[in-house]
Amino acid sequence: MAPGSIEELKLKIRDIPDFPRQGIVFKDITPLLNDPRTFKQAIDAMAHPFIGRHIDRVVSIEARGFIVGAALAYILNAGLIPLRKPGKLPFLTHRMAYTLEYGSAELEIHRDAVKPGQRVIIVDDLLATGGTMRAAIDLVKTLEADIVGVSFLVELSFLQGRQQLQGHEICSLITY
Ligand code: AMP
Repeated sequence: MAPGSIEELKLKIRDIPDFPRQGIVFKDITPLLNDPRTFKQAIDAMAHPFIGRHIDRVVSIEARGFIVGAALAYILNAGLIPLRKPGKLPFLTHRMAYTLEYGSAELEIHRDAVKPGQRVIIVDDLLATGGTMRAAIDLVKTLEADIVGVSFLVELSFLQGRQQLQGHEICSLITY
């Protein structure tokens, strides 16, 4: 994507200081989603590196990851798999605990969500410290999927979350 277009997307991401906790600057992507033009530009650009690479499933992380993940799955002709907070998925699950930029949490996946060897990408709205995506990768690995790459709309590079994701192809559209 052209640098000018990335700048246009950046203008649609709003900083909310001290949300949800003191000291956190929350990146609010709702203005970008609200504008049909920037939403489409962002999703098309996120899909681009994976087009023609036979992605079977897009794994998306609750909750904002679902927004970008569902749109990406549609474009890539892939199925969609939700990773959810504990107690939300109705069938048998695997669970993984992890630490966040602001707290700790757990994620679950349905045990039959992915078949061994299926080609997947894992998607979230934002990469901060990398704990969430690390847990997502570990969960998907328990099902022996082939992780083709991980994808983010936004990366907070100063938090060095990439270090937790070494060995994986990382695509992030908008970097701070
Ligand atoms: P992390 O595990 O630290 O990489 O955090 C990533 C997850 O937390 C993503 O699902 C984001 O939605 C959320 N998150 C963490 N920090 C922020 C932030 N500064 N602004 C918006 N979302 C954030």
